[in-house]
Amino acid sequence: MYLKSIELSGFKSFAKKSELLFTSRISSIVGPNGSGKSNVAEAFRFVLGEQSIKSLRGKKGEDLIFNGGGGESRGNRASVKVVFDNSSKVFAIDFPEISIERVVHRDGVNDYFINGSAVRLKDVLELLLGAHIGASGHHIISQGEADKILNTTPKERKAMIEDALGLRLYQYKRIESERKLKKTFENIKEVESLRREIAPHLKFLRKQVEKMEKAESMRTDLIEKAKLYFKSENMFLAFSKTMLLEERKPIDEKLQTLEAELKNARTVLESEKNKDHGSEILRLESEISEARKAKDSLVIELGKIEGLIAGEERVIRKQKEAAATDVTKMIRLRDVELFFNEIQEDVRDAEHKGAADLLELVRSFGQRLASFVSSKKDAVDHTVVVEAEKAIEGFNKDKERIRDRMQQAEARDLELHGTYESMKKSIEAEKDSSRDAEKAVFRIMSEENELIAKLSLIKAREENLKKDEAELMRGLEEAVRLGGSEILKFKDMDIQFEESAWLQKREEEKREISKLVIRLEDAGISGTDEVVKEFRDANERDEFLARELLDLEQSAESLRSLIEDLEKRLAVEFATGIARINAEFGELFKSMFGGGSAELKLTREKKVSFAESEEEDMETEEKIEEGLDISVTLPRKKIHGLMMLSGGERALTSIALLFAISAVNPPPFIILDETDAALDEANSKRYGDMVERLSKHSQLILITHNRETMSRAGIIYGVTMSSTGVSKLLSIEFDQAVEVAK
Ligand code: ATP
Repeated sequence: MYLKSIELSGFKSFAKKSELLFTSRISSIVGPNGSGKSNVAEAFRFVLGEQSIKSLRGKKGEDLIFNGGGGESRGNRASVKVVFDNSSKVFAIDFPEISIERVVHRDGVNDYFINGSAVRLKDVLELLLGAHIGASGHHIISQGEADKILNTTPKERKAMIEDALGLRLYQYKRIESERKLKKTFENIKEVESLRREIAPHLKFLRKQVEKMEKAESMRTDLIEKAKLYFKSENMFLAFSKTMLLEERKPIDEKLQTLEAELKNARTVLESEKNKDHGSEILRLESEISEARKAKDSLVIELGKIEGLIAGEERVIRKQKEAAATDVTKMIRLRDVELFFNEIQEDVRDAEHKGAADLLELVRSFGQRLASFVSSKKDAVDHTVVVEAEKAIEGFNKDKERIRDRMQQAEARDLELHGTYESMKKSIEAEKDSSRDAEKAVFRIMSEENELIAKLSLIKAREENLKKDEAELMRGLEEAVRLGGSEILKFKDMDIQFEESAWLQKREEEKREISKLVIRLEDAGISGTDEVVKEFRDANERDEFLARELLDLEQSAESLRSLIEDLEKRLAVEFATGIARINAEFGELFKSMFGGGSAELKLTREKKVSFAESEEEDMETEEKIEEGLDISVTLPRKKIHGLMMLSGGERALTSIALLFAISAVNPPPFIILDETDAALDEANSKRYGDMVERLSKHSQLILITHNRETMSRAGIIYGVTMSSTGVSKLLSIEFDQAVEVAK
């Protein structure tokens, strides 16, 4: 026995605290009409969480509170407390006894308590559902409601029976799972759209990072190559310098000695009386030396101009190389503006003509854009090239002028030498052996001439070397700018250097490096750290979303299989439940009517409903609606179907069905409010027998005026109503009960 007691205070006509103890398997509540018996049944509904005030015969919560009368003042609250025994752990909480209490206040606010602690309605419902006591009240049959199960629609009837079979828990779980599945799908959609949203940005960032990585590997390549190149070239230049110095040193020394000898010879000549040739020779010597100096300076000037020309040529070469590789090519703003104006013109035209030309417009725009891009693609920056070419032209003219002057200088040189030669001959012809000094001057000048020619060659090579050095410095600066100062460490390198091997490959190496430099310049990567960080963040987010998507898909999958399981289980349990109910129902029916047959039959009806789809179109939805029909055949009568039954027959049929349901899945207690009202004596007896049979599985509380029913009860409560409209409760004996019931 689970149900121990119920206590009403201030509930409806029960103004004072009244308690009913259910110490017997069958309890009966008797009393005259209007004394408050049904209020007790309603107190059960109320405390078990009934939310429909109407089904408690009220309009609002206030109607459930004792309203006063005959000098009794009205109350402020109504409360009902029901106590269950839980020693066999029917309820899923660890207490030997469970009390559930509900209080309603005049403002309509409800409080719920489990074992004295305030809880939510949901907690009460869950606790009861687990013990197979539902608020739906399939186990509380109110007055006049016995044949509700006959009057209702097949669909409703099916729901009632599913509830009685305890399938509501599964249905509740299934609905909950479907709701979760729907929510999961929404989340999946949301996550997918988030991923779609970030995808282009992520793609862009990934490309940037790839570019950067490529640039980084080019940079490493550049550092490695440049270090080797600059080291080798540096060594090569140093080597060339030493070579030149070594070549130059003996010449310089020799020239110094000759200069000293010349000085001596001059002194001699100046001191001599006969200076016929002396002064002439001295003048000639100084003229030749002047002419030589002039030639020398022209050579240097020529070297400088050649250096400038080489510089301009380098600019042109770079432009051409850039044109062949550049992907981040600059296009002059003016060109873009012109192109934009053309397009605008077309758009304006198309606007006048209307939408028909849109496709044509798009097509022509595409073509124009393609030709604009290709026209700019291979173009060299002409202004730069033109300017450089102009400069080269100017330098070439300068060069020409210097060449002319050099020719003049050479002619003068030749002339002076001619004079010198003829003077030499005439002096020799004089056979004046005393003129050693004069001879010496000639010898020295001739030697000097030879040496100076050699020296000027060396000087030209020195100039070239300087140019090479300057160019190397410029190259180094550029390489460091793009490859970083790591390149400068070439100085500390220790390599094996072989001059002739280097001469063979230096040009090739140089080209490689300038290619890398140009490509790195094109890559033009800046703000690298931020891009990498942004990429990492975006990628992490995307990976997180991907994981979340996977989780969601997995949980959708497990929800789907849970729903499938639940549906299978529901179907199986429903089918077996119906079969068992039918067996009981048939039996009970036969024993009540002395024959005949009755059973529940599953119906499937097509229902068309209108549903609003996402596109806001009305759509028809066809659904199969399942229900339960009752088919009866009375003995000796040709009656099929419920419509033809008499009032008593209806009562008997519904009682048989209710009892069958209760027998298959017995609830802890059943309250029957005057279910026996329409029965004659013979049927009352059968009813009494069935009640006793039923009481083996469920506790019964029978509100009745029926003597036969009362006689089956182990405990009887009498309810009377005082003149003040307050219900009074007393435990009575059977004989008294018969009296009270009247
Ligand atoms: P019957 O045998 O005719 O079915 P009953 O014993 O089942 O009668 P109930 O329907 O339980 O009688 O009781 C109805 C009585 O309760 C009425 O007299 C009604 O005035 C009284 N009642 C209902 N609500 C309140 C209330 N809020 N305050 C006071 N009395 C109330």
